[in-house]
Amino acid sequence: MVLRKDNESAARTGLEIGRLSITLRGVIDSTIDAYLKRKARAFEPKRPQRTPCPQCRKPPITCYCATIRPFESKPRILILMSPQEFKHRVGTGRMAHQCLSNSQLIKGAEFAASAPVEAILRDPKIFPILLFPGPTSLNLSNLESCERQTLCPPDRELLIVILDATWNHAKQMLHRSPNLQALPRICFTPPHLSRFLLRRQPHEHCFSSIEAIHQIIELMNPLGRGNAKEPHDHLIEVFDKMVLQQLNFRVPSQVSRSAASYVKIKARRERMRALRAVNGSNDLNSPGEMSGTRACLAGSKTKPIHS
Ligand SMILES: [Zn+2]
Repeated sequence: MVLRKDNESAARTGLEIGRLSITLRGVIDSTIDAYLKRKARAFEPKRPQRTPCPQCRKPPITCYCATIRPFESKPRILILMSPQEFKHRVGTGRMAHQCLSNSQLIKGAEFAASAPVEAILRDPKIFPILLFPGPTSLNLSNLESCERQTLCPPDRELLIVILDATWNHAKQMLHRSPNLQALPRICFTPPHLSRFLLRRQPHEHCFSSIEAIHQIIELMNPLGRGNAKEPHDHLIEVFDKMVLQQLNFRVPSQVSRSAASYVKIKARRERMRALRAVNGSNDLNSPGEMSGTRACLAGSKTKPIHS
């Protein structure tokens, strides 16, 4: 009787040990499988859509490089890009640089000690001007075409310096760069609202970098707008395509938010226009009803910078 009990107990123990070993083997096998899969994934080539284009830094599906037809602009453009903007995939300064074959792009947060920037600014053949709104900025929109042509001495080449950054970062870049502070400044009154629906603009008069560069080339064109389509309009063509493409990728709620903000700004501007008409003034630069920056633009000096 005792012998039978011992035999049953030994059999039960053997069965439990067998079950345990099967379970342990299963755990070990699954752990080894997971490890091998992880290792194999590490050696797999990266999926092509995740590798950004080295020029525009966008994934291949939204790369716009093939649509760009580079051209030489007059005046020449120097784009000083903030590190934050450099990381941004919908930054328009990079796009403008790709379109303008004679432009230069330099990345940095401050340029006081930047050797390439100093070399450009100290070149006696170049006449650099900074695009930056403010009370001392000359508003190109208030000048006649012939007056704009006298901005640069005839024996020097005009170079427009653009700070490609958010407004806050652009102010910081200027604050940290005495060599840029010393430059004469220009600004312009935007003829329409920004078409950049992908990023929120801090004020209604703010343009993206590429729109600002297009407007500067337009204003500085000595022949005026002779044709319906000028070569520099290519900047806006590439920009519009990119904006539309990005909007198509967005979920409807994001698109409607962007569109709603655009409509709101447009309605506010039209209300201001109507108010001015009632007051008997059609001058968009009339003081009293303007935002602070617009007032600054209107108050700019109008003498040639180099005189
Ligand atoms: Zn690209």
